[in-house]
Amino acid sequence: MTLIRKCISCGGRFNKFSMIRINKPPNYPDDGEITVLNIGDETYFPGRSCYICCNMECFKKAKKSSRISRSFKCKICNDVYDKIENIISLSEN
Ligand SMILES: [Zn+2]
Repeated sequence: MTLIRKCISCGGRFNKFSMIRINKPPNYPDDGEITVLNIGDETYFPGRSCYICCNMECFKKAKKSSRISRSFKCKICNDVYDKIENIISLSEN
C-alpha cells in the first residue's frame, strides 16, 4: 500500500504522514460532519478523504479556488478552512 498522496491544491505527491487529511462522511450533510485531521493522523473515517500538503501558500490557493469543495462536490464551511489554516500555522512556527 502506498503512503504517497496527491495534494488537492498543488497536485504534488507527498508522504501522507506529512499532510493534512480532510474527510467527508458518506451521508454528509445529513449525517456527520467534515473532519479535518492533524498531520499524520490516520484515524479511520468512512467516506471520502482528500489530502492537502502542509503549506500556507498551497492552502490559500486551495481556498481561493474552492478545491476542497470541488473535490467533495459540496459546500465547505469556513470552519473547515479555519481548522486547516490553524494546523498549518502551528506547524510553521
Ligand atoms: Zn500542495
